[in-house]
Amino acid sequence: MWALRATRLFDGERVIERPLLLVAGGAIIAVRERGIAPVGVPLTDLGHVTLLPGLVDAHVHLVLPGDPDPVGAVDVSADELISNARRAANACLDGGITTVRDLGDRDYVTVGVRAESARDPMAGPQLLVSGPPITTEGGHCWFLGGAVTGRSALIEAVRSRVARGVDVIKIMASGGEITPGSRSWQAQYTVDDLRMVVTEAHRSGLPVAAHAHAVSAIERALAAGVDTIEHATFRTRDGVRPDPGLIDRLAAAGTPVTVTTGFSPEGPPLDAAVRLRTAAALRAADDMRRAGVRIVLASDAGISDQKPHRLLPFGIIRLVEAGFPPVEALRAATATAASACGLPRKGRVVPGADADLLAVDGDPTRDIRAVLAVRAVYRGGQQVRYFDPEKWHDTRSRRSGY
Ligand SMILES: [Zn+2]
Repeated sequence: MWALRATRLFDGERVIERPLLLVAGGAIIAVRERGIAPVGVPLTDLGHVTLLPGLVDAHVHLVLPGDPDPVGAVDVSADELISNARRAANACLDGGITTVRDLGDRDYVTVGVRAESARDPMAGPQLLVSGPPITTEGGHCWFLGGAVTGRSALIEAVRSRVARGVDVIKIMASGGEITPGSRSWQAQYTVDDLRMVVTEAHRSGLPVAAHAHAVSAIERALAAGVDTIEHATFRTRDGVRPDPGLIDRLAAAGTPVTVTTGFSPEGPPLDAAVRLRTAAALRAADDMRRAGVRIVLASDAGISDQKPHRLLPFGIIRLVEAGFPPVEALRAATATAASACGLPRKGRVVPGADADLLAVDGDPTRDIRAVLAVRAVYRGGQQVRYFDPEKWHDTRSRRSGY
């Protein structure tokens, strides 16, 4: 057993001053306010830092390296594909992201990466993976290899993913932005198709994550009983039109909605139309929060050159800019994200949780930009990153502009 002290703790729900954590066997044993370490228990005092649960990114694409051309980026050798995924997983830890749900790879390479970071906490976060997303022929992200046609093929697609050992089934309920020829404002499946996929996945104990930009696709995904709705940007042909009735139904159902936002300050500027659309989608996210929808924050890292891996903290800042109180933005990327992913030991710093921790300089519950000032990262009680403030300029953290 060992003890860890800091100035402040956000435990996933609330703030505790001068916390003392007791850690054993990779898990949190106790959290005491203004506590003193028991005699004989080694103490690490991190000084003036705020401890947070290790961040949970509920939607990334590890095989996509954050390249302007995602179609070309996966048209590479098997070796290159897996080394890109490894590098992306490793980068997550630099940003304090200790749990990641990958919602779309090619050739199931993330299944192997999941095993590697389970063996070695320094290699990457704990991973949940979906394998290739299920989509239509020529539909959104067809280039990841998950396109099928016909109802029996949909059932077969779920079964083959179950056989490969995935954690979640991902289906593209609408078109998307990054696939040439795809229309994000149009649904790709009927309610019956989606319901069939949900039934088959649930039969094997797996949840379903549905990508849905189009208003019609959000509606159908909700009606079909999917477990998380990804993006929910309320796309129509002309732009973004949040539907208050649908928002109320999302809140009543309690279905978690994954808001994917955040852009690298070092990436190329967004073009004007995208900037307007993403701003409108962010306002819709705040509308959903106010209406009581369970909001999960995720990055969708990898899909473009504005979305490098370890992007999640920038999304937290954007939520606050959109109107989220800082603690609610932090909760969306920790406790709510973990519960939406079905991971009760993640996203909280409470007795019984895994000792996945992020220590940052400053107080992000007051000034959210402090989430960028990573000092230390722990996975299962093991320190996997430490950035020495004396050598701040030498660290990857600052050198890359984060
Ligand atoms: Zn995605």
